Amino acid sequence: MSNRIPHFINGQQVLTEGRSSDVYNPSTGSVIRKLPLADDKTVQQAIDAAKAAFPAWRNTPPARRAQVMFRFKQLLEQNKDRIVRLISEEHGKTIEDATGELQRGIENVEYACAAPEILKGEYSRNVGPNIDGWSDFQPLGVVAGITPFNFPAMVPLWMYPLAIVCGNCFILKPSERDPSSALLVAELLQEAGLPKGVLNVVHGDKSAVDALLQAPEVKAISFVGSTPIAEYIYSEGNKRGKRVQALGGAKNHAVVLGDADLDNAVNALMGAAYGSCGERCMAISVAVAVGDAVADALIAKLTPKIRALKIGAGTELGLDMGPLVTKDAQNRVLGYIEDGVKAGAELIVDGRGLSVAGFENGFFVGGTLFDKVTPDMRIYREEIFGPVLCVVRVDSLEEAMRLINEHEYGNGTCLFTRDGEAARLFCDEIEVGMVGVNVPLPVPVAYHSFGGWKRSLFGDLHAYGPDGVRFYTKRKAITQRWPQRKTHEAAQFAFPSNG
Ligand code: NAD
Repeated sequence: MSNRIPHFINGQQVLTEGRSSDVYNPSTGSVIRKLPLADDKTVQQAIDAAKAAFPAWRNTPPARRAQVMFRFKQLLEQNKDRIVRLISEEHGKTIEDATGELQRGIENVEYACAAPEILKGEYSRNVGPNIDGWSDFQPLGVVAGITPFNFPAMVPLWMYPLAIVCGNCFILKPSERDPSSALLVAELLQEAGLPKGVLNVVHGDKSAVDALLQAPEVKAISFVGSTPIAEYIYSEGNKRGKRVQALGGAKNHAVVLGDADLDNAVNALMGAAYGSCGERCMAISVAVAVGDAVADALIAKLTPKIRALKIGAGTELGLDMGPLVTKDAQNRVLGYIEDGVKAGAELIVDGRGLSVAGFENGFFVGGTLFDKVTPDMRIYREEIFGPVLCVVRVDSLEEAMRLINEHEYGNGTCLFTRDGEAARLFCDEIEVGMVGVNVPLPVPVAYHSFGGWKRSLFGDLHAYGPDGVRFYTKRKAITQRWPQRKTHEAAQFAFPSNG
């Protein structure tokens, strides 16, 4: 791959001049590639290619569309090492974590392989005398996806395999921070036999996103990223009559009850808080300890484990954590740690000042733990998106649940307990879209759907799975009668019914 990353339009790599941005290796802190930022003309080129491909693709039998996905899955598996290396090189996450990300992405391709089954529609014979009715699920046309940096391969795979097997043509605008794995994956779908123009990739920033928002040809947008941008995309898209699902940020709480298996809870918290350097929308960033005894025990068990985290260049094997994605992200997280200290939270493990031998310019922050965090603090209210876990102390499960329900975000949450009654109450009453019971990262599998509540998702339908099929299709209800020979029905002025 050359130093300048191409767009991918109408089945071809397209290099453009003009504005560009830098892509870093966050472990070394150096620029490794240049990314052209699409202008309106380039975005329009992608839209035109998608629009031209649509009539033939929408009429391609779903079983044939699925066959492309079967080959795609094979190619993804054959090219796993290349993809995983690119994810890790530009994002900074460990090879093992990138492998897990890709596997979850592949599971979405497997779901899309069921295209003929998921697009079967609904049929009713004799909805009236000699009248049959059915519902078709038809594609929308040209649809777009705008994705975040933190799952550069998986989140695009949440979107376009399903959109495409539903008969749509797709334009992906990946994150400008780590775009190479998304590009390689898209090229593999082409290699699997996808007709030109059905999937296009344009790189860019706000300007490319605005061009997609303004284009009347783009009928729907799937967005995943931070809440302010999600809200912007949702309102701008809606204003122009587009269908939009916009998934935003999070502040995920894990509640630990006194009867929980504490060693298991601590191990689960370690992975969920510090895996991928905390740069996951489902990361646990708040541990709510019910009772001081639980809080003290949690702190005592977490502290040595956080100090022992193996941190280094993501591309090396056997690590727990790599760097943050950019210098900006590093500075933002360091700023939050400073803010927590000033606000009076107790800093138990300080991740500032970490230097990794051989990677002194990398964007590293060590695992950080705060105790006695209170709801008025910025480190509690805002998404830090870094390796910082805040412990909040409460007296009861009800108080813990009130905290969660009052928080602006509602993406994921988890309860650690052995008490079935408490777990049932938690699942029933918690105002969060994805709930774990002794499962710290309750990310739904590909045949369910993914989405938070409150300001973690704008729109009605969650991502991928059955909701994804609904999002990428429009329902058409058809009612059909073939008149009987020699019988003529009289005009009927009353509203037709079976009454
Ligand atoms: P981001 O909002 O900065 O960027 C997401 C996408 O929006 C990128 O493609 C970017 O180019 C584009 N964008 C950025 N600024 C824009 C603007 N002003 N106008 C139009 N488009 C713009 O998010 P990020 O930093 O890449 O990702 C991290 C965030 O994503 C976190 O908040 C995380 O919680 C969230 N996230 C949410 C989920 C979820 O499923 N809810 C999943 C992954 C990440």
